[in-house]
Amino acid sequence: MIKKAPPHILIIGAGFGGLETARRLAKAPLQITLIDKRNYHLFQPLLYQIAIAGLTPSQIAYPVRSIFRNQKNLTFQQGEVEQINFEKRYVKMNGSLIAYDYLVIASGGQTNYFGLDSIQENSHELKNIESAVAARNHLLSMFELASREADPEKRRAMLTFVIVGGGPTGVETAGALAELIRLVLSRDYSQLDLRDVQVLLLEATDHLMGNYPAELSNATFELLRRKNVEILLSTRLAGYDGSRITLGDGTQIPARTLIWTAGVKASELADKLGVDQAGLGRIKVEETLQLPGHPEVYIIGDSAYFEDGHGQPLPMLATVAQQEAATTVKNIQRSIQGLAPISFRYKDPGLLATIGRNAAVARIAGLSFSGFPAWVIWVVLHIYRLIGFRNRLLVLINWAWDYVFYDSQVRLITAE
Ligand SMILES: Cc1cc2nc3c(=O)[nH]c(=O)nc-3n(C[C@H](O)[C@H](O)[C@H](O)COP(=O)(O)OP(=O)(O)OC[C@H]3O[C@@H](n4cnc5c(N)ncnc54)[C@H](O)[C@@H]3O)c2cc1C
Repeated sequence: MIKKAPPHILIIGAGFGGLETARRLAKAPLQITLIDKRNYHLFQPLLYQIAIAGLTPSQIAYPVRSIFRNQKNLTFQQGEVEQINFEKRYVKMNGSLIAYDYLVIASGGQTNYFGLDSIQENSHELKNIESAVAARNHLLSMFELASREADPEKRRAMLTFVIVGGGPTGVETAGALAELIRLVLSRDYSQLDLRDVQVLLLEATDHLMGNYPAELSNATFELLRRKNVEILLSTRLAGYDGSRITLGDGTQIPARTLIWTAGVKASELADKLGVDQAGLGRIKVEETLQLPGHPEVYIIGDSAYFEDGHGQPLPMLATVAQQEAATTVKNIQRSIQGLAPISFRYKDPGLLATIGRNAAVARIAGLSFSGFPAWVIWVVLHIYRLIGFRNRLLVLINWAWDYVFYDSQVRLITAE
């Protein structure tokens, strides 16, 4: 008798959603192929730490092949999926075709500039290692240039750092950058007058931290203000030429640095598939996370459009991607057993964001709090969530060192 081949599960993306899917299928009698254009999993929540010279890239990224070294039912292939044929059930990558029985698309998101070309061309983003390292090189170079600049206006522009977007990433970046300047760079560049340095945080709405409760939004505002971050609410950025920002009301502010954290949309792949997309290019999925008309295809994470019970799309968060992965795994297993799929329900684990040393805001189990206790929870949780014992240990040592000695070890300019 000919033995039937096990079902082939193809997963696109080794980010939070893809990784969780693959891990949860570790013991299943299936054949899994995991594809990613990068050969590592990236812990994006700590990308801003690379930009502010707090951590090295290798401390927040982990090779996919190491993660799955002992998972016998999984093969990894590095490459960028360019096309998917849903009718014939194959994906096209690196010039070859890979067939699947079940497909999980977890290709994540990309920065959204809302069509503002001048900002896309001249700003820095925090989306991958390359962009975070470029931001670090640029920030540190500005201090080098300013230290030898005689013209006070030019010097002030070099030392004006604008961060756009008052969500968690913008807030965390602004707080950490203000602290890097006050505690570390002020000692490296003692000849510079710190009064020339300005960290500006721009937010288009009238409050920080989007969907956080008002008390946490206010606490964030106060904590940032105490760290000398100047916050401009209800302020829209209209353009940036690399030397000055232009606000919606026409005001211009000389600044040589702009970090854009104000928008995300679905990955490029989502645009190439010819399927129904909703807000921010995310692909519409059934309650079961399946692609309409293709029950063998699941879409999860930032690329999926799934509404909560109140008609709002779920946020683009790692926790959403991971919970969607768990339901997807159950549904694939149910499908193999001939059972109907279950619907996905998101369980909100709360919110957490740090605002530099000793300061964070949190909403956990319905309780809002801020300050030192929230910061301790943030540190513990982020170290716990990193992949690999070595990375956890290194990040812990790094942070402990910086905390005790008011230092920041990765102050390296590695490119122009
Ligand atoms: C700076 C920053 C800070 C954040 N902070 C937080 C936070 O504090 N808490 C939180 O919950 N969330 C946070 N997020 C959001 C979180 O990182 C995302 O929601 C999460 O990564 C989404 O998971 P995903 O699996 O959908 O995609 P990702 O984790 O982005 O993974 C997608 C993967 O797909 C790969 N890929 C894309 N296209 C292709 C293709 N065509 N072929 C092959 N591979 C492809 C990519 O290389 C990537 O590895 C943050 C995001 C950023 C950028």
